[in-house]
Amino acid sequence: MEKVMEKQKRIALIAHDHLKDDLVKWCVENKEELKRHFLSGTGTTSRLIAEATGLPVKSYKSGPLGGDQQIGARIAEGEIDMMIFFWDPLEAQPHDPDIKALLRIAVVYDIPVATNRATADFLMNSRFMNREYKHTLQDFQALTEKRAETMRKEFA
Ligand code: PGA
Repeated sequence: MEKVMEKQKRIALIAHDHLKDDLVKWCVENKEELKRHFLSGTGTTSRLIAEATGLPVKSYKSGPLGGDQQIGARIAEGEIDMMIFFWDPLEAQPHDPDIKALLRIAVVYDIPVATNRATADFLMNSRFMNREYKHTLQDFQALTEKRAETMRKEFA
């Protein structure tokens, strides 16, 4: 199934506490590029980025209160195109299962994800940032129908 990512990207921004300052600084440095896109993020991260850059950033709930799950659901619905997620490799998080689920669903839907500054820099300087990008996703509808068919046969 072909999916088209528009020129204007819908970017989700998330940073764990020790990395919030890094992400905010990165957003300030990349403000000129970011302002061409639609931004959203988890509660605290989105607020700090909006304050520091003056750009509109749609706010979801705070990560530990379900924000990661909300963003994961938006990815599954095709409403988010890419994610900049500075997760902390040195500290355990209470919402670790949510983080894992979010990273997983981003792979399922072939979403570009930057999990550190260098990758974020590479992403932001990609030629695909300012043009349409077409990619192929699994046909999830066909997959579900096939699974249902197998179950019907098994239970018959
Ligand atoms: P926060 O959530 O932006 O509300 O802090 C991010 C997280 O810790 O997952």
